[in-house]
Amino acid sequence: MNFSSGWREVKKTRKKHRCFGCRELIQEGSRAWYVAGKYEGDFFADYYCDDCKVFMDENPDYFEEEIYYGDIGDARKEIGEASV
Ligand SMILES: [Zn+2]
Repeated sequence: MNFSSGWREVKKTRKKHRCFGCRELIQEGSRAWYVAGKYEGDFFADYYCDDCKVFMDENPDYFEEEIYYGDIGDARKEIGEASV
């Protein structure tokens, strides 16, 4: 999946959103990331929380394949546990 383009920073969300990366709720008024595009013919438009965006930037190897709902939260947990 190509994430190098299509990211848009949302400085203050106007509504609550569910982060596609970790399933956590993004509260209204918080910073979030919006990405939209086309993948294998399907249009997608998802919100990500700041933590997931930072994680993706730091660990690009994780995300060469398609990301499924909650994957980033799981990866963040895995790496977090491994480094303890
Ligand atoms: Zn998240």
